[in-house]
Amino acid sequence: VDGSDHYDEPNAPITNLRVAQETVKRAGLRFKIEGSPVKVEQETKNKDAFRRSPAEEEKLVRRPPVVTIMGHVDHGKTTLLDSLRDTCVVQSEHGGITQHIGAFSVQLESGEQATFLDTPGHAAFGAMRARGAMVTDVVVLVVAADDGVMAQTQESLKLAQEAHVPIVVAINKVDKPEADVAGTRKMLLNAGLQLEEQGGEVQAVEVSALTGHNLDQLVEAVVTQAELLNLRSDPTGAVEGVVVESRTDPGRGKVATCVIQRGTLSRGAVLVAGTAWGKVRSMFNDAGKPIMSAPPATPVQVIGWRQLPSAGDVVLEVEGEHRAAEVVEWREAVLKKQQQEDDATAIEEKLQEHL
Ligand code: GDP
Ligand code: MG
Repeated sequence: VDGSDHYDEPNAPITNLRVAQETVKRAGLRFKIEGSPVKVEQETKNKDAFRRSPAEEEKLVRRPPVVTIMGHVDHGKTTLLDSLRDTCVVQSEHGGITQHIGAFSVQLESGEQATFLDTPGHAAFGAMRARGAMVTDVVVLVVAADDGVMAQTQESLKLAQEAHVPIVVAINKVDKPEADVAGTRKMLLNAGLQLEEQGGEVQAVEVSALTGHNLDQLVEAVVTQAELLNLRSDPTGAVEGVVVESRTDPGRGKVATCVIQRGTLSRGAVLVAGTAWGKVRSMFNDAGKPIMSAPPATPVQVIGWRQLPSAGDVVLEVEGEHRAAEVVEWREAVLKKQQQEDDATAIEEKLQEHL
């Protein structure tokens, strides 16, 4: 498989309105109202769009890792992202001032690349996972050496382990006189992380997000970790990806930053994401430069949406605008049905209280 081993079953059954019918029946009995049940709508053909089946071996090519930074509050996640962006990002022509678009690529002198997600904290990680839109290949766990392993360090560790995402530790704030690197390593071991220095397999790099100390080593550790994962993807065929950020820009309208996971996105492609769809009018890279195509693991700002998709939505290319509209209509109908069922359940619960 290409690393994105999530794809939906094409013929998943659609739940019907049984709950609503039950509720009506019970209410009728309770209040002695006569009536006959209306025939429940037949299950219709699922008109959703789905992820493609895993690609054939010969189509797979190497792709860069996608990385999420996690860790306890104030341990330096934002500072680390800012420093990585400033020091490593291929500078834009306009003096290197890059906006935060939800993700950016860094490149080592060796030419190796990694894509960092800029979405805040582990809430985003959990949300994406819950939606089946797992984009993270490697977690960088930031632990401040003057504070050590704290509650959210442990939570992050748990989330990463549950998702089977390997961890690279960034022991941060080593510039501080109070930094206790040895103590921090010990705490990490106690938390269940076997670091390389202790005979384990987890790489730990001592960094200072503030001064930029050892940041290339950190990226290198990430790339080394990624090599072990043998991350590959099929750059051909219908595009699949994930929305990592979206907003309405006063100048450009609805903009969604997507990380492409499969296929190569180009202008004119028709995309669905959640209950939004659009036709790619223009694309920009993480430095704000217009680009013509976006291969797997590249962050790309996409313009041309009819509706604004949400972060965490899976992006799928479909054959054309009619098909896109059909998929969105279908999804809206499914959501509406779900809402009705939820309402029915709520009513039933209310009724139970009175029976
Ligand atoms: P976050 O909550 O994990 O995003 O943490 P921040 O990046 O906001 O950092 C919290 C505080 O720690 C800020 O005042 C940073 O300037 C400081 N900080 C972050 N990294 C370092 C570092 O490597 N060295 C020092 N001395 N301070 C740091
Ligand atoms: Mg922060």
